[in-house]
Amino acid sequence: MPVYKAPLEDINFVLNDVLNAEQLSRLPGFEDATPDLIASVLEEAAKLCENVLQPLNRSGHEEGCHYENGVVRTPKGFKEAYETYREGGWQGLAFDPDYGGQGLPHTVGFVLEELMCSANMAFAMYPGLTHGAMNAIRAHATDELKARYLPKMVSSEWSGTMCLTEPHCGTDLGLMKTKAVPNDDGSYNITGTKIFISAGEHDLTSNIIHLVLAKLPDAPPGIKGISLFLVPKFLPTEDNEPGQRNGVMCGSIEHKMGIMANATCVMNFDDAKGWLVGEPHKGMRAMFTMMNSARLGVGMQGLGVGAVAYQNAVAYAKDRIQGRSLSGVKAPDKAADPIIVHPDVRKNLMQAKAFTEGARALGYWVGMMIDLVEKHPDPVVRQEADDFVALLTPVVKAYFTDMGYEVATNSQQMYGGHGYIREWGMEQFVRDARIAMIYEGANGIQALDLVGRKLPQNLGRLLRRFFHPMQAELEQSQENPALLEFVIPVAKAFGKLQQATAIVAQKGMARPDEAGAASADYLRMFGLVALGWMWLKMVKVAQDKLANGADGKEAFFDAKIKTARFFVEKMLPEVDFRFKSLMAGGKSMMEMDVEQF
Ligand SMILES: Cc1cc2nc3c(=O)[nH]c(=O)nc-3n(C[C@H](O)[C@H](O)[C@H](O)COP(=O)(O)OP(=O)(O)OC[C@H]3O[C@@H](n4cnc5c(N)ncnc54)[C@H](O)[C@@H]3O)c2cc1C
Repeated sequence: MPVYKAPLEDINFVLNDVLNAEQLSRLPGFEDATPDLIASVLEEAAKLCENVLQPLNRSGHEEGCHYENGVVRTPKGFKEAYETYREGGWQGLAFDPDYGGQGLPHTVGFVLEELMCSANMAFAMYPGLTHGAMNAIRAHATDELKARYLPKMVSSEWSGTMCLTEPHCGTDLGLMKTKAVPNDDGSYNITGTKIFISAGEHDLTSNIIHLVLAKLPDAPPGIKGISLFLVPKFLPTEDNEPGQRNGVMCGSIEHKMGIMANATCVMNFDDAKGWLVGEPHKGMRAMFTMMNSARLGVGMQGLGVGAVAYQNAVAYAKDRIQGRSLSGVKAPDKAADPIIVHPDVRKNLMQAKAFTEGARALGYWVGMMIDLVEKHPDPVVRQEADDFVALLTPVVKAYFTDMGYEVATNSQQMYGGHGYIREWGMEQFVRDARIAMIYEGANGIQALDLVGRKLPQNLGRLLRRFFHPMQAELEQSQENPALLEFVIPVAKAFGKLQQATAIVAQKGMARPDEAGAASADYLRMFGLVALGWMWLKMVKVAQDKLANGADGKEAFFDAKIKTARFFVEKMLPEVDFRFKSLMAGGKSMMEMDVEQF
């Protein structure tokens, strides 16, 4: 059976030593969020994840969800676990106290997301969807809707969904058919079919609040004619309890590759009563609030699954004995050496460690930037942080989930044939990790978002939020000879990324297909360079600690330096390959006639 231990030592290192999360408590509204308080909250989060959620991960995977006549039952134990989650107030951890939240920084919410996805990704999706819906309602709904729905969602009594996809429209939402007809009382009647709706129906909460994209009768064609509606499963009574059943039903649930314990539903809306969120025809703007938060959340899923797969692979590699080390016997008391002695096994473990620890730093940093966007008194800082988050969102979503899957499958590989056998649990990680590359905008779409929207935005202003501070940190680090073995490769990779940026920008203006062809390589380069920056930051701290007192954690800091070395020597060179591929252009992809395939 797989195991999971929340990596609190590494989390605290990232938060306190690398990101200086103590600065959060100097932001207005976060005065209580001291490092001590955050550490104690995370200890409780670790207990929830290790003791309540993780033990249900395999059983939930094996049992899956049950569907009967429109009713969905989650696997055994999920209701009780959800109750524990609700009692702990976890849903409102990083949400506005005006609606019952605890008002802690989003940074802490990002950590919780990672831990929950490591422990039980299918479970984590129920509150994850609610969280996204809460954000969209708070940002765009009327005060009346906020007052009615948010407190119930923040307390986990009611959950949320996002309903975009239809049978004929996924990526291209402009093709949407679901209709919204206005009523005299200010509400709307929504009719249409949505598919693949995560947590669309289940038995964990007394009401489910759907955020549904639909078209008004006078809607302009395409993406500009979409509006967002709030559609509850049960219409709330005067005293805000679930009342009359609304015209929305679950038609079936999907049988799928992974996240078996999360219900993926066909939702039929039949004159369901709903209320507009945001302005008419501006639904995509409102939905983007939810999608951006969900995209970062999905990135954390990639990290979370990668992190737990890595933990299990390490345990197995230390325990499983096969063959002898090429450099001589390492475990003479045993019939063979543990497989962790073999370079190829090491390569996979090191890659997993370098990715998860680097991504942890980057992911939490993005979380911190969201806190600055919301709380910093200086509007210039808020704008800069917002730009940074917007730029990094497609990178976190796509690079983290591509790598989360890669780490999961490489970790499975370390189990040999046992990795392919269900009871060891490694196949579940591979299955669960796979969807994160597809939903919330498939990763190819993230690459297009980065290249087509984020790079040109405000004449490259978003990019400067990343390039300028990174350049400054590289220049400053060059003065330290002990850092040069890390600074030089990171600076070279950064230079390649800058070159690639100029080329992509030129190509994009001249021939959009060329920019599209370059986009996946470019996003991957971006992810690698961003992690290179994180490793530089982490090495600096580790070297400093080792020189000035590591407080008994010498091995931990030494491991950071070794992992950074692996990253720059073995992973960062992928930037060169990606650059070469990007430079080759799109002709070889596009010259084939469709009939020739
Ligand atoms: C388990 C699961 C849970 C889901 N949960 C939800 C949910 O809660 N709510 C919801 O609304 N949806 C949900 N989805 C739907 C998911 O977001 C879509 O499947 C996804 O957006 C892709 O849409 P599609 O499947 O129609 O693929 P398509 O849009 O048909 O795309 C097929 C392929 O073509 C590529 N492609 C399409 N257009 C372009 C382009 N312009 N450029 C480059 N490549 C392109 C795509 O990247 C993809 O690889 C879920 C799906 C699954 C499987």
